[in-house]
Amino acid sequence: MKRLSWAFLFLAINVVELKTNPKIVVVGAGMAGIGAATRLLELGFTDVTLLEASGEIGGRIGKAQMGKTWVDTGAQYIHGVVENNPVYCLAKKHGLFENVPKEEGSWSILTDKGRKVDEDFAEHVYKAGELLLHQQSDDCDNNTMGDYFAEQAQKLADNWEDDAENRNLISSVLRKLGKDLLITTGALDLKNVSLCSWQHFSNEIKGDMDIGGNMFLLPSKLLEEFPKENVLLKKLVSKIEWDGSFGVPDGTTYPVRVCLGDGEEILADHVVVTISLGCLKAQASSLFSPPLPEYKVKAINSLEFGSVIKIILEYEEPFWESDVSKISLLWEEENILTVKDDPSQWLQYLDFFTVMRPQEKFGNVLIGWCSGRVADHIDNMTEEELSAAVTEHFRAFTRNSSLPAPRKVLRSQWHSNPFTRGTYTYIPVGTDPEEMDRLALPLSSSKATKPDPQVLFAGEGTVKSLYGTVQGALVSGRREAQRLAQHYLKATAPPATCPFAL
Ligand SMILES: Cc1cc2nc3c(=O)[nH]c(=O)nc-3n(C[C@H](O)[C@H](O)[C@H](O)COP(=O)(O)OP(=O)(O)OC[C@H]3O[C@@H](n4cnc5c(N)ncnc54)[C@H](O)[C@@H]3O)c2cc1C
Repeated sequence: MKRLSWAFLFLAINVVELKTNPKIVVVGAGMAGIGAATRLLELGFTDVTLLEASGEIGGRIGKAQMGKTWVDTGAQYIHGVVENNPVYCLAKKHGLFENVPKEEGSWSILTDKGRKVDEDFAEHVYKAGELLLHQQSDDCDNNTMGDYFAEQAQKLADNWEDDAENRNLISSVLRKLGKDLLITTGALDLKNVSLCSWQHFSNEIKGDMDIGGNMFLLPSKLLEEFPKENVLLKKLVSKIEWDGSFGVPDGTTYPVRVCLGDGEEILADHVVVTISLGCLKAQASSLFSPPLPEYKVKAINSLEFGSVIKIILEYEEPFWESDVSKISLLWEEENILTVKDDPSQWLQYLDFFTVMRPQEKFGNVLIGWCSGRVADHIDNMTEEELSAAVTEHFRAFTRNSSLPAPRKVLRSQWHSNPFTRGTYTYIPVGTDPEEMDRLALPLSSSKATKPDPQVLFAGEGTVKSLYGTVQGALVSGRREAQRLAQHYLKATAPPATCPFAL
């Protein structure tokens, strides 16, 4: 009898601790928030609310109208063209490859001396440089990506068996690779970036697929089955109070109170925070009460959030050949040993453009990419200044003084956007990639005797194997949904149609 009452008491405690239908709030409707919210529903949670500060879902998958259609202002490449990349799989499932040209198109490369560089030659040098960079030294802790790049690129250029004339071009192509790395990381200087950055990175990231003009469709496709009334736009979360006991008139209490900028409050059992590292850096000290523990503050401070800008140009007529898919501009006498941006020489960093294809869909649209302080410099220019400078730039490289100005110029402004404050996370020199794991750890109540995840964290910057990517964001949200399912001892989940391993 006594044994029975203990068993009953144990069950009663668990019933009190584990509500049958917990209230879950997800902050941010980017891919991490969408991944969390949709997975929670799949796992049988029904009281899930998705709060988004801006007027749109998608976060850093943004869109803008240009020419005949829409273009992506944020992510546009699928990194990892393999079936077990969930983003590749989902994009395919939702028909996002329709209209995407099957052939890659050609690469047009022009130099400041008016030369046209042979595509096969440039591709060969570029690939050799990439290969060397990926064979990183074991001593990555004590090395910067900038130093390693300079050392390897110089060695490659010196040992290239070719005539002196081409040696300059080899250095220029390799330097372009260095500048592309600045865009990949969003950093100001490759010497700030840890060589250990890709130590844990997924081997699945092989091959890139440009689905420009279609990526922005993915967030809404994934939310198709999610109740519309539970997606609340223009709801800026201004405070997250946790480890509390907030009551409602029917006597139910909740440990979390989410306060919105408009004065509204939402009580919850759990909150999944998916705002960018840039937003956490700016707001973490005022957003959480009680404040975040020291290890979490250290993770936020020690990781970096880079900046990249996309400049979208629409022309009346193309000045490039019809089969061109990317345009690069090379400087023949640039120093290969330092790859850091310089706003006073900003046009030297506006050296890469993707051509939006097919032309029947987009018209004549180019997208230019720049990183770091150059991105911030461009962010502050007027459209007229930018249009005039870009026109002069192209005229100089094409030696065509009557090359027309674009009829429309747009910029993505992720750095000045208060809901992103930059573009993606990178690992600076001296920072352990495992800080990303610490950023991902949930916060439990100080009174809890066993883990009681009240505040959970997702977002691209919380995944050391996939940070800076759409799939990183997506799987991080699903990871936190899974964490809650484990907490509530939920039965096995319905099979996912696409793989979601980290
Ligand atoms: C220019 C650019 C190009 C990129 N290119 C690629 C690419 O080609 N391929 C690729 O895989 N990845 C790319 N990325 C990276 C990819 O877009 C991101 O890794 C991913 O979209 C991040 O998703 P997330 O959910 O972690 O964050 P976010 O998308 O930033 O989502 C967070 C959401 O939280 C909202 N929010 C912020 N503060 C609050 C608040 N206080 N209250 C409520 N809501 C709030 C924001 O509005 C946002 O919607 C690119 C990113 C940029 C910016």
